[in-house]
Amino acid sequence: MNNRTLYNEILIEHNMHPFHKHDLEDANLVLEGVNPSCGDDIWLKLKVVDDVIVDGAFQGNGCAISQASADMMLDLIIGKKKEEALRLSDLFLQMIKGEITKEQMEELEEASSLQDIAHMPARVKCAVLGWHTMEEMLKDEK
Ligand code: ZN
Repeated sequence: MNNRTLYNEILIEHNMHPFHKHDLEDANLVLEGVNPSCGDDIWLKLKVVDDVIVDGAFQGNGCAISQASADMMLDLIIGKKKEEALRLSDLFLQMIKGEITKEQMEELEEASSLQDIAHMPARVKCAVLGWHTMEEMLKDEK
C-alpha cells in the first residue's frame, strides 16, 4: 500500500466514523465555523478547564475533508493545553501552505494525511475550517 492510499483510507475512516462528532453538553466554548465556498458548516465545542482542553466535539454538516479534518484535529488537541493546541494549529496551517519539515509533520499525526490538500486550492478552506474555528475560540478567550 503506498502512502497516498493509506492517507485516503485515514480520510475515509474519519469521515465514515467520526469519533468526535456528537454534542458536548458541558462545553464552555462553542463557535460556528462556516465555509460558504463549499457549504461546510460546523459547530465546534470545547470544554476548557485551567487552560487545558479536557474534552471536545463537533457537529454540523460539510464535505468529507472538512469533517475528517475537524475529527483529526480533536484527536490531536483533546488533553492538550490551549497554547499547545494553538501551536499545532500553526503547524497544520504551515503544512497546508507546504512549509513544513518532516519532524513537524510527525507531530500532526493523522492530520498530516491532509498534506496533499496543499495542491488543491479549492479544498484548502475545507481542511482549515475546524482549525481556524478552534484558533478563534481560544484566542478570543484570552
Ligand atoms: Zn468542504
